[in-house]
Amino acid sequence: MHELSIAESLIDIVKEHCPAGAVVQAVLLEAGPMRGIDNEAMQFAWQCATPGTVCQNSRLELRILPWQLLCSACGAQWAGEDIYVTCKCGQTPCPVGGNDLKLTGIDVLTAEELAQEESNARVSRSERAEAE
Ligand SMILES: [Zn+2]
Repeated sequence: MHELSIAESLIDIVKEHCPAGAVVQAVLLEAGPMRGIDNEAMQFAWQCATPGTVCQNSRLELRILPWQLLCSACGAQWAGEDIYVTCKCGQTPCPVGGNDLKLTGIDVLTAEELAQEESNARVSRSERAEAE
């Protein structure tokens, strides 16, 4: 299952970039259609690989990119979900690229934000107490 090895290398990258004390909320991944990544299998791999790591309890947001198609007959180029299509000139286009695998973002709560959130919660509790 290649999704599991993708999950493991993602966790390694996140570990390198995650500031100390921060809690990872979500990891954003973009994959080209040529990769053949199945979202369900990827989510399952994420659940299996993350416990005990910096990514524990985080979400994996996977975006599968559309195919980039190029018609060599007329030079038209477009993006589409479907690879078996005919160009408007009648020729069959070929996919270009599609092999990308990119970690596009990491959502974290930093140690300060976590402390802030706690004090916000305290403030709203005391505000409520005053209002009553
Ligand atoms: Zn064409």
